[in-house]
Amino acid sequence: MGRIEPGRRSLTDEQKLMLGSVDSLMEKYDEAYWGKLDRDGAYPDEFVDAMERQGLAAVPVSKEYGGPGLGVLDASLILEEINARGGNCQPFHGQYYLLFALSKFASKDMKEKYLPKIAAGELRLQSLALTEPESGSESTRIRTSAEREGDSYVVKGHKVFISRVENSDLMVLVARTTPYEKVEKKTEGISLFLVPLDKVERVEFHRLEMMFNSQTYELFIDELKVPASSMIGEEGKGFRYLLSVLNPERILLSAECIGDTRWFVEKSVEYAKQRVVFGRPIGSNQGVQFPIAEVYAKLLAADRVRRAAAELFDSGGDDRSVGEYANASKYLASECSWQAANVAMDVYGGSGLAVANHIERKFRETRLYRVAPISNNLVLSYIGEHVLGLPRSF
Ligand SMILES: Cc1cc2nc3c(=O)[nH]c(=O)nc-3n(C[C@H](O)[C@H](O)[C@H](O)COP(=O)(O)OP(=O)(O)OC[C@H]3O[C@@H](n4cnc5c(N)ncnc54)[C@H](O)[C@@H]3O)c2cc1C
Repeated sequence: MGRIEPGRRSLTDEQKLMLGSVDSLMEKYDEAYWGKLDRDGAYPDEFVDAMERQGLAAVPVSKEYGGPGLGVLDASLILEEINARGGNCQPFHGQYYLLFALSKFASKDMKEKYLPKIAAGELRLQSLALTEPESGSESTRIRTSAEREGDSYVVKGHKVFISRVENSDLMVLVARTTPYEKVEKKTEGISLFLVPLDKVERVEFHRLEMMFNSQTYELFIDELKVPASSMIGEEGKGFRYLLSVLNPERILLSAECIGDTRWFVEKSVEYAKQRVVFGRPIGSNQGVQFPIAEVYAKLLAADRVRRAAAELFDSGGDDRSVGEYANASKYLASECSWQAANVAMDVYGGSGLAVANHIERKFRETRLYRVAPISNNLVLSYIGEHVLGLPRSF
């Protein structure tokens, strides 16, 4: 059977070339590699090193700072391909979306200091610390505070579900420089800091056990002193900058879901053709065939909406228009990959639960996208209120 590649027809020659190098990488880092990492709970260091050597780990960095300066569409095609070949981008996708924000809002000094090193693979920017035990979906309620003291800020707080803390050199730390109770609009008073992780003695952290191989941590920040120059952009405007992270993040994670869906459909088709029960391939039964065909049709739609969202972002669309498409894309793609995961589980019967077939691993991995970086209820709420103008529910 041929590969499931619904977007192939729309690719430019450059994109085909770029994806060719991802494909060769994935020949080496195959399903067995990702399966072993999953069993060991290990970080794909070797794979990330190889991406860095091939110039694939920091593609949003502009040419001025030593990167290729790719947009969200191209970046999303890379992540899609990795997941479509049985990999899992969760251990390194943070750098992609954080680079879009840093490139846009950091000072010239900050960009000159960090971007060339990130582009060269000498530094990793993989971590964003936003979520707190009492503020996940309601991110404006964060309580981590940053108080000005001379040329520094002193940060205190508690973060949870923060990814890749031990696999990154830098973290974007989100804190309130004005408490929630003292701002007129709840989105005001939030600031972003770029914190080198090797120097943070006043941060205690421990890894959380999750349902799949995920490097996710809880952090306790006790009077961490950070220089005022580590602030990204202006004080109190961090929430607006975060939107610039969150929209590309949604589009990039949609691409991972699209990659997962391609993988599940490919596996389902292969198995449904060769598995014989009652004297015929199971795929000749419409009860098996239709669910695969249905999710394939949804994949085509999710792929088109992801492209529309990415193209809007790359052509400088305003936050509101990009937000509409980025949210719709995240919703459609994550529902699609979860449906595809369940279809594959059904098609494989008992073999779907066998670790050797990787269906159960990808099933666990793709479930994340319905919850993070934003739960699908909150995506629908965004569309209801901000796109359709329905009354606010909270
Ligand atoms: C593996 C993993 C990695 C993560 N990595 C990071 C990271 O690197 N950095 C970071 O900052 N965060 C990270 N997160 C956190 C993630 O962004 C949050 O889990 C997510 O935003 C949801 O927040 P919550 O878990 O607190 O759910 P809650 O906000 O507690 O919501 C619980 C449920 O209630 C529903 N709900 C809440 N309010 C409403 C409403 N008004 N209407 C309808 N439904 C509602 C939600 O949809 C959800 O289903 C990660 C999470 C996971 C699981």
